[in-house]
Parts: sequence; structure tokens; C-alpha cells
Amino acid sequence: MKRVAVVGGGISGLSAAFYLERLRRAGAQLDYTLFESSSRFGGVIRTERADDCLIEAGPDSFLTSKPWAADLAREAGIGDQLLPSNDRKRKTYILDHGRLVPIPDGLQMMVPTKAWPIMQTPLLSSSTKLKMLGEFLSPPQPLAQDADESVASFVRRHFGEEVVTKLADPLLAGIYGGDSDRLSARATLPALVARESESHSLVRGALKAMRGRGDQQSVPLFTSFRNGMQQFVDAVVAGIDQKVVRLNTPVASLTHSSAGWRVGFASGAEDFSHLILALPAYSSASLLSAYSDLAAQLNGIRYTDSITVSLVYRCDKLRRCTELPAGFGFLVPPSEKKKMIACTFVHNKFDSRCGDDHVLLRAFLTQAGDATDAQLVRLVESELAAIFKIEVPTEFARIYRWPRAMPQYEVGHLEKVARINTASRELEGLQLIGNAYRGLGIPDCVREGKLAAEQVLAT
Ligand SMILES: Cc1cc2nc3c(=O)[nH]c(=O)nc-3n(C[C@H](O)[C@H](O)[C@H](O)COP(=O)(O)OP(=O)(O)OC[C@H]3O[C@@H](n4cnc5c(N)ncnc54)[C@H](O)[C@@H]3O)c2cc1C
Repeated sequence: MKRVAVVGGGISGLSAAFYLERLRRAGAQLDYTLFESSSRFGGVIRTERADDCLIEAGPDSFLTSKPWAADLAREAGIGDQLLPSNDRKRKTYILDHGRLVPIPDGLQMMVPTKAWPIMQTPLLSSSTKLKMLGEFLSPPQPLAQDADESVASFVRRHFGEEVVTKLADPLLAGIYGGDSDRLSARATLPALVARESESHSLVRGALKAMRGRGDQQSVPLFTSFRNGMQQFVDAVVAGIDQKVVRLNTPVASLTHSSAGWRVGFASGAEDFSHLILALPAYSSASLLSAYSDLAAQLNGIRYTDSITVSLVYRCDKLRRCTELPAGFGFLVPPSEKKKMIACTFVHNKFDSRCGDDHVLLRAFLTQAGDATDAQLVRLVESELAAIFKIEVPTEFARIYRWPRAMPQYEVGHLEKVARINTASRELEGLQLIGNAYRGLGIPDCVREGKLAAEQVLAT
């Protein structure tokens, strides 16, 4: 009989436990225990209802193009609760000299696929527009095989500095809470790096990929759940044997021997043949400190903080409510010198989030210093007021702080993960999963959990 400890009850660990349970029900000779340090499951996924508004504390959705999260939702019995984003309102803006400028139509990340919108946008200078369109005919030399470089350097080679500062910086900050000068092109933009090596020109590669895909207009960009992301967590938890889940049980020590893994916690210890650690890399490092090479590699993955500030306004009080732009929200380049790095117009992105008479704006920050909640609300209110000329106070606000929540896939990340894999293979039965290694998004975390469960059977 295989005995598996899953440590960490965020979506990665929950997915591992869910698929272990399925294997067990299908006759696999295994049992498992899920340890979670806090009093709730979901990790950074959390939804709150406040005054008819559904407020996401962490993620609000996932990318539809990556299938693993929606697959899990269907397997957990809530396929009918999947909620597509309102793509008819899909438009994202860049804050440019205090004004919101739409990201040109046809832009895929930083790669143009339509000439006319690029020629027309006031966001970019004429020389940048020519460089972007000319990349089709005269692309730079591709990155050497297995070499890595920063996102900024990769984008600069193809499209020039202005595309780095106006597009790559805010887009990457919006996804990773990170800095395009430090983030790895290979780890964060793998599809673009692959296209570069195949077609040299990113524009040519994007057009070719579009032709290959045909018309996929009907697929929504993002997917959420009718009752918010917490509904996903609750459904996955319901698919796990409740007798084997341990909330409020922080794992405090791990000891490996030829017999397997001893997992220690405040009230005792238990023995397992397999161990799935679904924790932030620095937490795994501290539990594995006896294995200094592995712990050093894990500690080498840097994290940034994330803070979400949700502000609710009443339309009848907000004089310019109807003048708020359509669209999903905006991104803020560092050159704008704001604390906010992005803001989502939640009421546009998904239906039924806050009633028709309310507007829900959700701002993202990566640093708050020592600011109190009240100071943060005032700060975001004033930054928004400068953009939209909002003159009324918010009805109410919610602030969630997620310290060290966003792993940074910096230059050399893939090699770091390869070294972690090599070092962890020395410790039989151990698997390290979660958002620190092979993908930050919820679908990637679900895939990691599923693969880990399957791997238990294979070993
Ligand atoms: C603000 C924010 C917005 C985001 N937006 C999106 C988005 O829109 N779409 C998207 O796809 N992704 C988004 N992400 C990323 C995505 O949500 C995360 O990468 C993913 O949820 C991480 O899941 P996880 O299980 O790997 O880690 P976590 O959620 O961090 O879970 C780890 C769990 O381990 C527990 N734990 C820690 N130490 C111990 C211990 N010693 N013993 C037992 N348990 C322990 C913790 O309490 C926690 O529950 C966002 C992230 C943040 C922070």
C-alpha cells in the first residue's frame, strides 16, 4: 500500500489530493493525507460576498486556452458553473501620460498581427510602429539554443525600447508582479521563444499560428465560476475524502529514510512512502533544510508581494459612472509613477459581480510599505480619481495582502528548476509542485497536481 502525504491545501495540493482520490476509487492501492496549515483550503484563492458584490481576494479567473482547470471543474461536477469572460467588452488600456489608451487590436502580448491598428495607435511613436511592422521582413538573430535572456532584452531585440516600456513592462508586471529586466524570456514567454527559433520573426510566427488555429473567436479569453473562484475550491475539496484532510496542521519537519518520509507536526508525526510538497519554494526549502543543495536552489526562487484593493462605487452617486470606459481594465507602466500596477473593471469582465447599480474596480499593487488599510484605500482612490475624475467616495473597500505570493521566473529559471529536479530525485518519493516551477497560472497548478498523483502510481 502506498501512503502519500500532500502538504499544502492551495489549488496545487488540492488537485493532487483530488486525483489521488480518483485513483484510489478506481482501485489503486494507496491512501493519502492532506495537510494544510491554515483554517481554510484554497491558498491565495478566496472569494468574499459583501453587500451583493462578489469580491475576489486573489485570482478572479484563469486562461481558457489552458484546459486543466476547466477539466478539473467538470470532473468535480461543476462544469455548468463555469463562467466565460464578457469578451464583447474585451478591451485593455495602457495608462499613458495619465490617459487610458486602448491596446491596439490584434496585438498578441507584444506581437502585432494587424498593421492598421498599430499604425493608428497614439501609444507608440512612428519609428516604433515601423520597427514593429518591419520585424516581419528583418527579424533579429534568434536566441542561441538553450541560452536565456530577460524579457526586456528579448522584446527590445524584436521591437525596440518603447515596446518594452509601454507594453512588456506593464504586461509582465500584471501577470507576474515582476520586472521585465529580470524575468526570463524562456520561462515566461516560451511560445514566443519557440516561434523565434522556428520563424525568426515573431510577427510571421504569430500569423502562421493564427492560420493553423483557424477561427477560435468563440473561446472566451478567461473563465471563472458563477459564485467566484472559491466555488472551484469548494467543489474540489468535496471530491476529497473528508476523513483524510487536516486543516490547522502546519507541517513542521520532514525526515527522509530508507523507509520513506516522516512528516512532523505540532501534535505528532506520521510515516508515508510518498511526499508531495505543494508549497511556496521558500517553505519547501525550510522543511528540506537538511538537504542543503536542494534547499539552496529552492531559496534561489525570489518572490514578490501582491496586494488587491477592491473599491465599490454606487452608479447613482458616481456622476461619471457611465463615462467609465468599457473594457476589462488597464495596466500601468512604471514610467507613470503610480503605486497601482493594474486595475480590473470587474463589473465589465464578468456578469453578475456587483449588481447593475454598482461599479467594482480592483487595483493591484506589489508594494504597500507600511501603509494601513485606510491609507491604501485613500491612495488607490486618489490614483483612480486622477484618471477618471471620480469625485465621490467609495461605498466600501476590501483589501487583501498576499506577502511573497508571486514567484519570479527570472533569467535562468528553467536551469534552476532542472537542478531542483535533479536534487529532489535523490530523495525517493518526493515531488515538488506548485506555482514556483513550471507555470504560475491556476491551470498549470492543476496540471502539476494531476501529474504528481499519476507519478505516485508510476513509482
Ligand atoms: C493576487 C493574485 C492574483 C492572481 N490572479 C490569477 C489569475 O487571475 N489567474 C490565474 O491563473 N492565476 C492567478 N494568480 C496565481 C495563482 O492564483 C497561484 O499561482 C495559485 O493559486 C497558487 O496555488 P498553489 O497551491 O501553488 O499555492 P498557494 O495558493 O500559495 O497554496 C499553498 C498552501 O500551502 C499552505 N502551507 C504553507 N506552508 C505550509 C506548511 N508548512 N504545512 C501545511 N500547509 C502549508 C498555505 O497555507 C497555502 O494554503 C494570482 C495570484 C495572486 C496572489
